[in-house]
Amino acid sequence: MKGRKLLMIPGPIEFEPSVLGVMSEPTDSHVSPEFIECFGRALDMLKEVFFASKCQPFVVAGSGTLAMEMAVVNLIEPGDKALVISAGYFGNRYYDLLLRCGAEVKILNASIGDVPTLELVEKTLRENHFKLVTVTHVDTSTAVRTNVQEIAKLTHQYDSLIVVDGVAAAAGEPMFQDEWGVDVYLTASQKAIGVPPGLAILMVGPKAMEVFHSRKTVVRNYYPDFANWLPIMKAYQARQPSYFGTPPVNLIRALEVSLGFILAEGMERRFARHVRIGRAFREAMKSLGLKLVVQREDIAANTLSAIYYPDGVDQNILVEISRQGVILAGGLIPDIRNRYFRVGHMGSINQGDLLATIGAIEAGLKKSGYVFEIGAGLKAAQQALLE
Ligand code: PMP
Repeated sequence: MKGRKLLMIPGPIEFEPSVLGVMSEPTDSHVSPEFIECFGRALDMLKEVFFASKCQPFVVAGSGTLAMEMAVVNLIEPGDKALVISAGYFGNRYYDLLLRCGAEVKILNASIGDVPTLELVEKTLRENHFKLVTVTHVDTSTAVRTNVQEIAKLTHQYDSLIVVDGVAAAAGEPMFQDEWGVDVYLTASQKAIGVPPGLAILMVGPKAMEVFHSRKTVVRNYYPDFANWLPIMKAYQARQPSYFGTPPVNLIRALEVSLGFILAEGMERRFARHVRIGRAFREAMKSLGLKLVVQREDIAANTLSAIYYPDGVDQNILVEISRQGVILAGGLIPDIRNRYFRVGHMGSINQGDLLATIGAIEAGLKKSGYVFEIGAGLKAAQQALLE
């Protein structure tokens, strides 16, 4: 389509035409038998996507930040101790959020592009008891991936709940929620789940539901209170009508379509595709002589990348890359905001999108006066993709 630009930011992403198509159909009643079936199926499919047969799904109108908030306002009571394992901007957001909930919060940070070590996490858990630990699966500000499986093991050993912000990882990076024992996995619709912005999604495990049910104080915030949403989710799962707050009918229909695509691809194949695409993109950037924000390959996210501008190049390159037909995102970490850019490569992205993006970056670099071998990034990506 001439004039159409490719949206390669780390969310919202490019959506499947049939996902967008279903959103334009007439809005149904939220208690019609057809919509009840659709919502019920979407909730069932979420359990498959996250390998979370024991978990309770919640899908409510709101962005990822609401999902973050819902997870902790329902589990934390004033004075409870919480630990935040941060790898950037969104880890820090959890710190602020938990303070608002009246928790006593400790935060573990790492240098930019790294994660707090497992040794440090273990030492911290050994020295203090925390009711809850939050981890960002992929921090979108740095494109760093945390080892959720190992951190979940540690939190069990030290008897804490683990809440994982999977907004930039879900349905792209592996998540085996029952097996790993992740108490809450949360995300939003606009990233690898493949639905326009507007849905907050949480998968809540049995231990977290138990902790919620044994609260001594009422949840202060009305809208995010699990007590209001649990009967609604259970009703849709049982294919019964119910009402608390009007669900975003068209978005839920889009969710059902997108989850169908995700499951048709197969989760293992989908994870492997993200690994292949992520690696090819990083190889391309390195071949152009660019430096990634993430410090090591073993903690590099496969859903997005963050790349430093080379010497002599600044954020104006993003305007040039957009002229080339590809929209990318600027930096987010305050200390280095104007020194790097971010590229999303998750969800329905295909190899053509990836190569078009690398081509546009090469064109932008050339126009910015950066000296490199034209085609070096494309060649490296092709090689990695064809391996
Ligand atoms: N956590 C992470 C890791 C994110 O990437 C984002 C969004 N970029 C959020 C939370 C917040 O989500 P939202 O913008 O939908 O509120």
